[in-house]
Amino acid sequence: MAERIAIIDTPAHTGSEVTVSGWVDTKRDHGKISFVDLRDRSAKVQVVLVPASLDEESKELMKAIRPEWVIELRGLVKARPEKLVNKDLPTGTIEMEAYSIKVLNEAITPVIPLDQEKSEINEESRLQYRYLDLRRESMLANLQARHKTIKFIRDFLDARGFWEVETPYMTKSTPEGARDFVIPSRKQPGTFYALPQSPQQYKQLLMTSGVEKYFQVARCFRDEDTRKDRQPEFTQLDLEMSFVEEEDVMSLNEQMLIELVQTYFPEKKIQQIPFPRISYAEAMEKYGSDRPDLREDKDDSNLLAFCWVVDFPQFEKTEEGTWTFSHNPFSAPKPEYLQDLMNENNIGEILAAQYDIALNGFEIGGGSIRNHQVAPLKKVLEIIGFTEESAEEAFGHMFAAFESGTPPHGGIAWGLDRLVAILQAEDNIREVMAFPKTGDGRDPMMVSPSAISTDQLMELGIKVQPIDKK
Ligand code: ASP
Repeated sequence: MAERIAIIDTPAHTGSEVTVSGWVDTKRDHGKISFVDLRDRSAKVQVVLVPASLDEESKELMKAIRPEWVIELRGLVKARPEKLVNKDLPTGTIEMEAYSIKVLNEAITPVIPLDQEKSEINEESRLQYRYLDLRRESMLANLQARHKTIKFIRDFLDARGFWEVETPYMTKSTPEGARDFVIPSRKQPGTFYALPQSPQQYKQLLMTSGVEKYFQVARCFRDEDTRKDRQPEFTQLDLEMSFVEEEDVMSLNEQMLIELVQTYFPEKKIQQIPFPRISYAEAMEKYGSDRPDLREDKDDSNLLAFCWVVDFPQFEKTEEGTWTFSHNPFSAPKPEYLQDLMNENNIGEILAAQYDIALNGFEIGGGSIRNHQVAPLKKVLEIIGFTEESAEEAFGHMFAAFESGTPPHGGIAWGLDRLVAILQAEDNIREVMAFPKTGDGRDPMMVSPSAISTDQLMELGIKVQPIDKK
């Protein structure tokens, strides 16, 4: 293929002949002359098609091309006369005069209108034709912002000695308070892997291994009732560090968020630096929420009000009146509450070394310093109702690891989808995911979940039975 330049770069080639390729965005015929807006992911450019300037074959093609056809176009970049300059377009100082057109692929009329606001199209159709829906400028911009966010995180953490380590997706249940998605095993009939609700146990075990500074852009799976800002699979920035206290994890993450915003979202304003810190008790009392929205001007779409929420209770009461963990069972109590934990004193008053980070009323992350010794971890499990045997069965590998020289450690995880959605001023995390699921957990494009063949079921030793969905 001919050497191609990005459409955004066309103004820099004013006076020269260049090749561009992309999609026909719009075509307007004016008698003998046609105007095409040609689009690639970088920008759109106006192209004038005049038969006299075109080679023979292109003269015919000029009549045939339609919106969304993929074409390569060779032509001259010409400065527009002053009064025709379009300041709203990045290529508005020029237009192209076409010399030749090559059709790379034809296209049927788009099955969903791409020139309509996405909010006007029902989401089922948007997801069924997601490959088209993503062609929108705003959707490509969301994917780019997500890419840049992840790239920034990787560079920031790499520069500070963190290693990205991948942990398994086929694993065993690790509790984060949701249901597991499970995968049946063919080789061990009747047994199941669980998809991770988070890499929590693995990242802690990497601290036992001496990795010291770990992170991962990790997919997590939680079988919850999908809400506006929840998805069955989502992405976390997951991070763990050894030889640290709460302050170390919080200041590193605060710095990373500040630099991320300043580097890639310069139009945004962070309301308060350092981020304010509020205790859970104060947040609940003052704002009735553990993810308070502290924005001074809620109409300012560029305002970012980060805040840390700290001093969470370690345990909370279940509906049945028993104790459960408030975040995850691995969090350590704040050091001054260790004795109370060990003695089971004032259980409801014990505060955990847990910190959440809220942004404009959403929880965008949370983490804790962990129990790195076996006794307090076993005590937490005992309080939430594990017997010695059931604790051993579920977490025996963690006990063994913690008895084998595990350093003090702690970490955090960010909900990356939610963070990017807020930074892109989208109110739904699906807008910043390439291929999300519907509210009831389906993918209308791939048509999943779907039934599997009787042969597959037999191989797995599974018989499907109707269930009462109440
Ligand atoms: N595993 C926790 C979560 O997914 C985060 C953490 O404590 O690091 O919310």
